[in-house]
Amino acid sequence: MRFNLITIFPEFFSGPLDHGIVRRAREAGLIHVHVQDLREFTKDRHRTVDDRPFGGGEGMVLKPEPLFEAVESLLGRGVGDAATQNRPDGDTAIVLMSAAGRLFHQGMARSYSQLQRIILICGRYEGVDERVAEHLATEEVSIGDFVLSGGELPAMLVMDAVTRLLPGALGNEASSQNESFSASLSSLPLSPRSARESDATKSILLDFPHYTRPAEYRGWKVPEILIGGNHAEVAKWRQQKAMEKTRRNRPDLLSQK
Ligand code: SAH
Repeated sequence: MRFNLITIFPEFFSGPLDHGIVRRAREAGLIHVHVQDLREFTKDRHRTVDDRPFGGGEGMVLKPEPLFEAVESLLGRGVGDAATQNRPDGDTAIVLMSAAGRLFHQGMARSYSQLQRIILICGRYEGVDERVAEHLATEEVSIGDFVLSGGELPAMLVMDAVTRLLPGALGNEASSQNESFSASLSSLPLSPRSARESDATKSILLDFPHYTRPAEYRGWKVPEILIGGNHAEVAKWRQQKAMEKTRRNRPDLLSQK
């Protein structure tokens, strides 16, 4: 899979790309990451990427021309009007990182992991000329209900979430199937005692608690059931704990069907 990051701060990515799973995926050739300096697509001496907003107001806005030209140069062709084409190549997404976008979630990461290529556009300042959202990006994506100072961290976050879902990216293949937001957690066997809980098995759950050695630390013991080695009992316990944690931390997930 190919990732293209379009940014005015190309150096920003050198740290995050060079560690852990993302680094290994790059080295194994599972992903190819190209960081594109937006300023290469400016034509003036000052390499200007931003301008003042029409209608007045604070701050600066990223101009459309360098962004359109950067994407077209990466694709090797004109984009026309992406908004009317809805992912023109089918296997390529052009994603504008934006606090005003659709909320990113694990299901989106899963669907992105099927693509051949993702172009991530990182905004800065007050944001990006709206014609980029309307006519260049195939989607506008937010990573949460808060405002950051740039799209670089959000783009890195999307790239990380997608990369770890690619076959072979994780050492242990099972670990991306049995984690928060994955459907298989909810299909673990459940105690028949609680009808209410079995109803919620259709929901996406958060991860269950994990423990490792020592079996007792500062007087806090690892739950007995995990040490016992009864797999069915362990699975049931994990399901219950995942449910409890979801109810406590993310009750909204349980009401989604
Ligand atoms: N004026 C904008 C915020 C601009 S922040 C607003 O009120 O919505 C500058 C850039 O940071 C944005 O263009 C976007 O690329 C990025 N950004 C900020 N918060 C983000 C978020 N929650 N998700 C994704 N990108 C974000």
